[in-house]
Amino acid sequence: MGRPPYDRRMTSDPHPITGAAFTSPVPPGTGWPGDPATATTPVAASPGDVVGLAATAPTLAELDARVSVCRACPRLVEWRESVAVTGRRASFADQPYWGRPVPSFGDENANAVVVGLAPAANGGNRTGRVFTGDKSGDWLFAALHRVGYASQPTATHSGDGLELSGLRILAGVRCAPPENKPTVAERDTCAPWLDRELSLLAPTLKVILALGAFGWDSVLRAARRLGWTVPRPKPRFGHAAEVTLELPDGGTVTLVGSFHVSQHNTFTGRLTEQMLDAVLSRVRQLGDGDSDGAETGQSVDDLGHPVPLAGRPHRVISLVPSLSEAIAATVPGALVGVTDWCTHPPDLQAVRIRGTKNPDLARICVLEPDLVVANQEENRKLDVERLRAAGVPVWVTRIDGIDEALISMERLFGEAFGVPTPAWLSRAKEVWASAPRGPSLRVVVPVWRDPWLIVGSDTYGHDLIERLGWVNLGGLVGRRYPRTTAEEILALEPDVVLLPDEPYPFSASDGPEALAPLRCLPFPGRSLSWYGPAMVEARGVLEGLGREAR
Ligand code: SF4
Repeated sequence: MGRPPYDRRMTSDPHPITGAAFTSPVPPGTGWPGDPATATTPVAASPGDVVGLAATAPTLAELDARVSVCRACPRLVEWRESVAVTGRRASFADQPYWGRPVPSFGDENANAVVVGLAPAANGGNRTGRVFTGDKSGDWLFAALHRVGYASQPTATHSGDGLELSGLRILAGVRCAPPENKPTVAERDTCAPWLDRELSLLAPTLKVILALGAFGWDSVLRAARRLGWTVPRPKPRFGHAAEVTLELPDGGTVTLVGSFHVSQHNTFTGRLTEQMLDAVLSRVRQLGDGDSDGAETGQSVDDLGHPVPLAGRPHRVISLVPSLSEAIAATVPGALVGVTDWCTHPPDLQAVRIRGTKNPDLARICVLEPDLVVANQEENRKLDVERLRAAGVPVWVTRIDGIDEALISMERLFGEAFGVPTPAWLSRAKEVWASAPRGPSLRVVVPVWRDPWLIVGSDTYGHDLIERLGWVNLGGLVGRRYPRTTAEEILALEPDVVLLPDEPYPFSASDGPEALAPLRCLPFPGRSLSWYGPAMVEARGVLEGLGREAR
């Protein structure tokens, strides 16, 4: 441990809030708003120092101070300081840059913690406060204000008056990394700070919100190191995923997942304001000790839209074939209406209300459902809005992959229907928890011909294929269900073309002749497109296809 030089930029710039002059990076204890350190705060200069200084930090305030002067990762120290001196974004060129590790921010008696990845080079690394001064933080703090954690909706700079109540925010890695990617060694070097922080917070902590898979995995690793009980197999990250962690003293902390508030997610609509509000409302429920959303009448669907349930639904209409099968298997007798495409279970008895894209809204209303279940991709937003306008509660699911399907259905049954996780859903979780088996396979999966449409990226089918360890070449062509030609499919040179029997009824005489000489295998399309009970058998069916293809 030693004293670092803080002389990289001797010219000073005025702090944008206080106007006080600071050199960059900012020397500790020189008056920067919120600076937890002093000139005598011990400095970690190696991974071993981090272990020792983290373990002996007696309070969160001292932990913050020690974090904020850490120099244990040479690459990150060089990066954060070089950005602060010569790598500033042009629009911030006249501002001083913090250029140090970014400590945690918020309530020291928090019952809720948000864990992100790492500070942004021109965000937290500039302002000295986590998630402050960049677009991701704009999203996060606005949402925290909406659910009552933040005193104001904006976070521009340390010293802007923002306060958090009941919640604390921290990063899994405390220094801004190049390309926002810390190395595994840097992640592990920084881990003792996280361990100590969670350990100091444990007496009041009830819920941790992980923003993105990095934060999720960081928390699970920390929990294991701290001796907390983590379920096996390792819980997978997903938006709105929840897992209970048991502490040695018998207490529990719920880990909740959310897509990260990065621009990649918020610009593309992968994470909407409603989705973020919904997950933060759930965090609020758990943090405040109110874990049963259904009974409070505050249930929200996968898109974050409130669903006004008067109690357990008994007259349900499903606009989604997969969910019709799932509901029929889980809450027998609840379905009073389904679409013409709801073909499973084969003996399903319910009024048919036309197709998924053109449901008979008048007929639905006449049936007086206490809940309609829909899906963001399969159903039209306009129909959902019209049903809601007519006073019908609608629960919209969002399912782009296996984990989302499992989480979405667990929420639907637990929160909307108020029933335990059904056995088939638990079994589906087990089936899809294991790693890929067998060699990889390059596949193309058409879903229609004339014109040819294939399974692309950002689809449930794509995720299934990837989870088998195979390569979906359609993902290289486009997202969702890109239009293509037989010639383009040939040019992709797949090991095999998988021809489903739905939605287009490919068969031995309809499909292979157009794709010769490619190897084509027919298969039950339900395995690749139906979530719900079909997920239990799907893996075995598809792996059998893989063996046949080789
Ligand atoms: S990433 Fe963590 S351990 Fe590495 S220098 Fe920054 S604060 Fe220290």
